[in-house]
Amino acid sequence: MFEVLSEKWPEILDFFKSEYDVSDVSFKTWILPLEIKSVEDGLVTLVFTGPSESQGLKYINKKYLSFLKVSICESLDEDLDLQIILPNGEMDNSIATTNESKAQLLDRIKDSNLSEKFTFDSFVVGSNNNAAQVTALAVAESPGETYNPLYIYGGVGLGKTHLLQAIGNFVLEQNPEATVLYTYSESFVNEVIDLLAGKHTVQEDIQRFRNKYRNVDVLLLDDIQFFSNKDRCQEELFNIFNDLHMKHKQIVITSDKIPKDMEGISERLINRFEMGLTVDIQNPDYETRMAILLNKAKQESGIEIDNSALDYIANNFISNVRELEGSFNKLVAYAKMKPGTVIDLDFAKDILKDMIDPDNKKNITCESIIEIVAEHFDLSTKDLISDKRSADIAWPRQICMYLCRYFTDDKLETIAKALNKTHGNVIYGIDKVKKEIETDPNTRATVEVLKKKVDPE
Ligand code: ADP
Ligand code: MG
Repeated sequence: MFEVLSEKWPEILDFFKSEYDVSDVSFKTWILPLEIKSVEDGLVTLVFTGPSESQGLKYINKKYLSFLKVSICESLDEDLDLQIILPNGEMDNSIATTNESKAQLLDRIKDSNLSEKFTFDSFVVGSNNNAAQVTALAVAESPGETYNPLYIYGGVGLGKTHLLQAIGNFVLEQNPEATVLYTYSESFVNEVIDLLAGKHTVQEDIQRFRNKYRNVDVLLLDDIQFFSNKDRCQEELFNIFNDLHMKHKQIVITSDKIPKDMEGISERLINRFEMGLTVDIQNPDYETRMAILLNKAKQESGIEIDNSALDYIANNFISNVRELEGSFNKLVAYAKMKPGTVIDLDFAKDILKDMIDPDNKKNITCESIIEIVAEHFDLSTKDLISDKRSADIAWPRQICMYLCRYFTDDKLETIAKALNKTHGNVIYGIDKVKKEIETDPNTRATVEVLKKKVDPE
C-alpha cells in the first residue's frame, strides 16, 4: 500500500488542490512539505516538515486533514484513516488528547438533537445544491468565522435539513469541545408557548430556556417559517440571535423562502437573517436524481438493481428528494420480501403503479387532491383544512385550490367548503398560484409534478 500511495501521491495532491480550490501559496506552504511516512493497519501517517512546527501542524489538521483524507481514500478507493505528525514524532495534542471514542461522539450527536446519518458524505452534490453545500461546508469548518448566519432556503424535501444536520455532525466530529444544538422551529415555538402558558413558570425556567440556546457554539434552526406571526417567539429568537452573533457563535437557518419574502416575520429579524449569506437549493436535475439513487443502490447489498428502474424513478419524481428516496425504499422493501427478485423496469412499474401508473385512472375530487397535496408537502389533511394560517400550510392549501379548480368542475363554493375556507379565500388563492406559476420556475415545477400525481395521464 505504501508503494501505491507513493506512486499516486502527485495525482492525489493535484486532485486535492483543484477539488478544494487550495491557493498556490497555501499549497506550497502547508501541503508540499508533507511526506509519506507509513501506511499500517489502515492508517496513513504523514510527516509535516513545514513552518512553525506544532502551530503549523495544528493549522493543517484543522483546515486540511479531512480533505486530504478524502482525496487519499478516493484515489486509492480504500477506506483509510489519516494522521499527520511532526518529524520528531510529536502529534497535535489538541487532537491526540481529545481523541474521543465513537460511542462518545454518538452521545454528543444525540445530545445535540442530531441524527448521525445526515452527513456531508451522504449528501450528493449537484448543480441544484452546489452553492449550498460549499457554503455549508465552509461554515462547518470554521464556525462563526465565515458566513453568519448562513441562511439556506428551498422547497420541500430538497435536502435543507440534511445539510443543516451535516454541519452539526461535522463540527462535533472535528472538535470534541464544540457544542451544537439542532432545533426544529416548531419545538422552539412550543417551548415558548409552554413557558408563557405555564401557571408555575418562574424566572428560572425562562432563564434555563434562554441559556440552553445561548450557550452553544453552533445553533441550527430548521424551518424558520414556523415563527411566522408568533411575535413573542420572534422576540426570544431575536435576543438569542444577537447574543450568539455578538459572541461569534455560528447560526444556521433553513426556510422555505428568502428572508424578504417571509410573511409575518418582524423586519428586524429579517434584517438579522440577511446579515450573513443566503443560499438556495433548487430542484435536482436528472443527473443529480440519478446520482442520489445510485448512491442508495450502492448501499443495498444482496439485491440486484437495474439502472432502468432507477431511471424510471428519476423520471417520475422530479421535485422532491424525499419521494425519490421513498419510492426507491419501497422497491427495495418489496424485493426483499421475495429473495432473488431483480429490481428492473417492469418490477418498478408494477410496485409503483399506485404512485405513477398512467393507466390507473382515479376519480379526481377535491378530497383526493387534498390528500395528494398533503402527502407531497408532508402535512396532514387535517392541517390543510384547518384554520391555521402559517405560510407552510397556507401555501399548499392555495395550491390545492388551484388544482381543484383545474381538475374538477366544482363551483368555487364547493372548493371553499372542501377546504373549510371562504369563497373569497379561494379566488385569492387561485390567483396567487397562477401568478407564481408565471414568475417562479420552482412553483411551476411543483405544480407540474402535482398535476402528474393527481392525473398521471
Ligand atoms: P428538506 O429539509 O429540504 O425538506 P430533507 O433534508 O429532509 O429535505 O431531505 C429529504 C430526504 O432526501 C432526506 O432523507 C435526505 O437525506 C434526502 N436528500 C435530499 N437531498 C439529498 C442529496 N443531495 N443527497 C442525498 N440525499 C438527499
Ligand atoms: Mg426539512
